[in-house]
Amino acid sequence: MSKRVAILTSGGDAPGMNACIRAAIIACQKANFTLLGYKHGYNGLLQQEFIPLSLDSTHNLIQQGGTILHSARCKEFKNREGLIKAANNLRQAEVDTLVVIGGDGSFRGAAKLSELWDGQILGIPGTIDNDIAGTDATIGYFTAIDTAMSSIDKVRDTADAFERIFLVEVMGRNAGFLALNGALCAAADYVVVPEFFESAETEIKKIVNQIKAQRALKGPVSFIVVVAENVWPNGLTGLTEALQYHNINDVRPVTLGHVQRGGSPVAQDRLLATTLGEFAISLVGSDVTNIMVGEVNQRPITVPLPKTWEETKPLNQARVDAMRTLMNERYSCD
Ligand code: ADP
Repeated sequence: MSKRVAILTSGGDAPGMNACIRAAIIACQKANFTLLGYKHGYNGLLQQEFIPLSLDSTHNLIQQGGTILHSARCKEFKNREGLIKAANNLRQAEVDTLVVIGGDGSFRGAAKLSELWDGQILGIPGTIDNDIAGTDATIGYFTAIDTAMSSIDKVRDTADAFERIFLVEVMGRNAGFLALNGALCAAADYVVVPEFFESAETEIKKIVNQIKAQRALKGPVSFIVVVAENVWPNGLTGLTEALQYHNINDVRPVTLGHVQRGGSPVAQDRLLATTLGEFAISLVGSDVTNIMVGEVNQRPITVPLPKTWEETKPLNQARVDAMRTLMNERYSCD
């Protein structure tokens, strides 16, 4: 069975995308499939910009951050005309299967494309946010936790030296996975995540109580609040001002930003990316389409694309419990 497979990376880039591309290249080679790499996400589909991918491209690829195919956002792909153009280009390039590595936005796009193109569509979850339902983890998430952890460790050093309060904003779009896990790994003193955020008024009282209780117990010591992006009104500036309103003034905000997207993937991301890349290619030519491949309890699974964004993925309750207990225990405060 000879097949033409195309692969692209779309939306927010994530460490491990290259490891996934490498696995797909090797698996295609073994199965005697031709593999094309579309560049710049869905823009490549619209511009018919693709390159052949062969074993020549795989050397030293597993450890590289970023994506050799480049990633991008593509407004035109959201319009019907753009989708029609992409479908026509796929037909012209005689592509049988399109593999999309990306986040839920990319999967929404892929699902729209499937209404106009009858080839096979397979999604692979690649995003540091881990905000995709149906899979325990997404490619890039573990590396991003590591980056957040080591960054917060460094913030802790300077916070300790000056006995200061630091606010550290981590990525996550609308999910608290990175913030919660980064905070746990780095023993942060408080974490603000969208899943449990009621209001700034409620939250600021808890933070101020924690800081005051700690200072009453130990004098002026460092205190680190990890904040998921897009949660606090007006971000770290808003939180700094809210603390100042409560006479807590020695506050330093740090936004980790795009460093969280970069770096060589850690072992767990390489394993996930490699397994999912191989598994996706094993489905080429089967009846399965419009699905995402994922991993649940270390087993590869397939999930209908709409489920990946329609369902909400909860935080791991044991981690939430651990964070709550440790925050309260350290400072004997509710
Ligand atoms: P991610 O895949 O990381 O969630 P985005 O949400 O930015 O990233 O989506 C990546 C791209 O997917 C967008 O630039 C667009 O081209 C495409 N896309 C997202 N949502 C849709 C949609 N509803 N219809 C068509 N294409 C979409």
